[in-house]
Amino acid sequence: MPRPTLTVVIPIFNEEEVIPELSRRLREVIKVWELRIDSWEVVFVNDGSNDQSLAQLKKLASEETRFKVISFSRNFGHQMAITAGIDRAEGEAVVIMDADLQDPPEVVSEMIDRWREGYDVVYGVRTKRHGETLFKKLTATVFYRLLRAMLGGVTIPADAGDFRLIGRPVVLAMRALRERHRFVRGMVAWVGFRQTAVYYARPARFAGETKYPLKKMVRFAVDGIASFSVVPLRFATWLGVASGLVAMLTAAWAIYERFFGSGVVQGWPTIMIAVALGASAQLLMTGVLGEYVGRIYEEIKRRPLYITAEEINVNSSVATPPAD
Ligand code: UDP
Ligand code: MG
Repeated sequence: MPRPTLTVVIPIFNEEEVIPELSRRLREVIKVWELRIDSWEVVFVNDGSNDQSLAQLKKLASEETRFKVISFSRNFGHQMAITAGIDRAEGEAVVIMDADLQDPPEVVSEMIDRWREGYDVVYGVRTKRHGETLFKKLTATVFYRLLRAMLGGVTIPADAGDFRLIGRPVVLAMRALRERHRFVRGMVAWVGFRQTAVYYARPARFAGETKYPLKKMVRFAVDGIASFSVVPLRFATWLGVASGLVAMLTAAWAIYERFFGSGVVQGWPTIMIAVALGASAQLLMTGVLGEYVGRIYEEIKRRPLYITAEEINVNSSVATPPAD
């Protein structure tokens, strides 16, 4: 069988509330895609859901063989789910899309058009974000600006998530990147090729709760920065210089007080300031170093990025990625 033109990869973690609507919207919009492309497949990656998601996906797969399922042995995280989809995708173009319909399937038609014009990466940029907390919007805005400032060479588009289309050359390049701490949107930017944006207003999650609680968001942000930048390591130098300056001023003040002050014993505040400054600077930098050392440790184990328990309708001859 020839390769399908389009593969849609959809990570799924406890999405039983949205899967029925998702499949309805997909079936509808696929008719529109079919005006532009010959063939398609949808790869659902079940990321260790513990609700009815897998059962629902299996039912979809039994009704339509172009609906395919990769099921992980446990929750490996959103970025790993995307990775598994990219690893198995057969399409000439691969679209990555959230399950909760926050990435409107209708926008994909426009992505296909841009790809046809010759772009290798077409990413979605959110012009508006509905139904998301002020906190989420604010942290996202700060994060994308901070990330850009730290990256220098590689430009990661602001306000773009993982919702995007990538062409075959980008897919193959992505498969060669086997690092554990994966920040897919950054990796796509790093890979290069001709990139362009389409704009869309991001609707609210169709149903259910966000699967990105604060803890996962923080991890994701740290991964994003630490996998693409060593700028935080350089903080050590600046922090050292800054605390050294403050310590020198403190010393000057202490000496002045000793000789020209009122003569009262005044060692206590000086020591407190010096100890506090030194300790905080050191602890902070130990933490930063720990982030990078931890990463070295995890990379060096060379474990597979994810483990699949089950695959349905997936063509097993599709090259699974090299072991490392
Ligand atoms: N997701 C996943 N594994 C996880 C967390 C999330 O596969 O550990 C999927 C989830 O099912 C959804 C997508 O990743 O399809 C984005 O998650 P969500 O919509 O909850 O994130 P938000 O839009 O709130 O940032
Ligand atoms: Mg969402």
